[in-house]
Amino acid sequence: MNTRGYAAQSAATPLAPFQFDRRAPGRGDVSIAIDFCGICHSDIHFARNEWGMTTFPCVPGHEIVGHVSAVGPDVTKVKVGQRVAVGCFVASCRTCSSCQNGSENYCETGFTMTYGSFEKDGKTPTFGGYANQIVVDEHFVFNVPANLDPAGTAPLLCAGITTYSPLRHVGVTKGSRVAVMGLGGLGHMAVKFAASFGAEVTVLSQSPSKQADAKKLGAHDFVLTTGENALAKLANRYDAIVDTISAKHDINGPLGCLKRDGTLILLGAAPVPLDLSAFPLIFGRRKIMGSLVGGVPETQDMLDHCGKHNLTSDIEMTTPDKINEAYERTLKGDVKYRFVIDCTKF
Ligand code: NAP
Ligand code: ZN
Ligand code: ZN
Repeated sequence: MNTRGYAAQSAATPLAPFQFDRRAPGRGDVSIAIDFCGICHSDIHFARNEWGMTTFPCVPGHEIVGHVSAVGPDVTKVKVGQRVAVGCFVASCRTCSSCQNGSENYCETGFTMTYGSFEKDGKTPTFGGYANQIVVDEHFVFNVPANLDPAGTAPLLCAGITTYSPLRHVGVTKGSRVAVMGLGGLGHMAVKFAASFGAEVTVLSQSPSKQADAKKLGAHDFVLTTGENALAKLANRYDAIVDTISAKHDINGPLGCLKRDGTLILLGAAPVPLDLSAFPLIFGRRKIMGSLVGGVPETQDMLDHCGKHNLTSDIEMTTPDKINEAYERTLKGDVKYRFVIDCTKF
């Protein structure tokens, strides 16, 4: 199926128009006409090969919302015309203990990423959602609650589930105290989710201009991390800290802001190692955990939670010809709070 999209041809070239073929839908596949795709910071890391694992050409995009244009004969989950979504992965082994447990994101044989992996044949690259259409196995296709704005829903498929999953995993609930480091795409969703679970939320940010927004998003407090002794004043305060920072930064100061047994949830994927001091972990029996997006059942659960609370991402719409500009603005933290591409323009 001839498909129009945008690709990076090398780590140093801007994204540009690119045509490629998608597989014809198989028996269990869903063909999706893509309406919207979010721009995740991971797309930028990937297109620029900052993690050293990119094969080119690279068509990024894993925050996909569209509508079903065709289904294979075995598909039961969705119907033609239905509003659907696709996230960060499009296949997994389906048999390992993680897959059986609904944690396909931790598939022990490695899941197939929506872009940047290979199809089952081991040689056809997977291309993502910066395109007009995609073909996906129905297991990895989600239903979108009808009340949600479809463009604002797109970022839920990565920024949303990536923050929802670990907040649920560590048991954030009414009365928990949560801090969110970095108010970007992931950060603003972490604030919304933690607040929707009843937690008291603090934003830790390097950008004074984001203070008013933090409150509007549901945060109770905003602390400028560049201020003198800013973190020392927050010692022993939080049950969990959600760290969404995309570049090298200090985690030892923030660890000291956790209560005894508190958890720092590391989500940001800085391309370089972070420095860890033993002391803030040892004193206070504190923990660091990582977390990678979320499994299929919990992604649907997250979307249903958003439907119930009428919760979507705060977005700025953009068009394919402005993707490179959107990348530059995202790198400067100049987006409120996620760019979403109008994919009907590819
Ligand atoms: P984003 O929208 O660019 O937000 C990142 C935020 O981090 C910025 O808005 C800024 O917030 C802060 N920040 C950036 N550079 C900083 C620096 N040098 N020092 C301190 N703070 C800095 O990015 P995103 O899309 O939310 O993604 C964030 C990170 O998570 C990326 O590394 C991405 O690859 C990763 N990620 C991981 C997963 C996962 O499954 N674990 C999923 C998706 C994305 P302030 O202005 O408020 O300080
Ligand atoms: Zn992402
Ligand atoms: Zn598996």
